Amino acid sequence: MGIAEAIAAVRTAWGAAESALEARDTIKLNEVKITMSNQLLELYTAAFALAEAKEAYASHARDLENEIIELRKKADKLGQYERVRTPVGTIVFVETASKNDPNGSVYACALCMDESKISTLQPAPNNIYLTCARHGKIGFNQHPWPSGGVGVLARME
Ligand SMILES: [Zn+2]
Repeated sequence: MGIAEAIAAVRTAWGAAESALEARDTIKLNEVKITMSNQLLELYTAAFALAEAKEAYASHARDLENEIIELRKKADKLGQYERVRTPVGTIVFVETASKNDPNGSVYACALCMDESKISTLQPAPNNIYLTCARHGKIGFNQHPWPSGGVGVLARME
């Protein structure tokens, strides 16, 4: 029974109780008392179920809010990278802020990005390839670079 039906039932019983009182009908009044206590019990049960449902919705809303916050954080992080083609033609992501860093750029795996995961690629000492912990080696330069510096990256539109 929903809360509205439970309230309506108690009201009806209350009307019956008033009629029984006016008529000084003790038997009828006792019957109404029993009916009313049962209906009050149903009302409490319905109110309790309603409170529980409200709490469940509030909890669900909190979970969704947290999920939105996490997704925004993820989108912000993904937005800090741009897709580029390496000198040997492989596709990687480069952290925009590190693109012109004289110590070398920070790269992320394109296959991981497809799964919305950011995996920083580890450069090999000679910069011939980058390594993703999940996807292995990704070709980078045809010729080794003497130190930190990297080849020219072609921007992909
Ligand atoms: Zn990867």
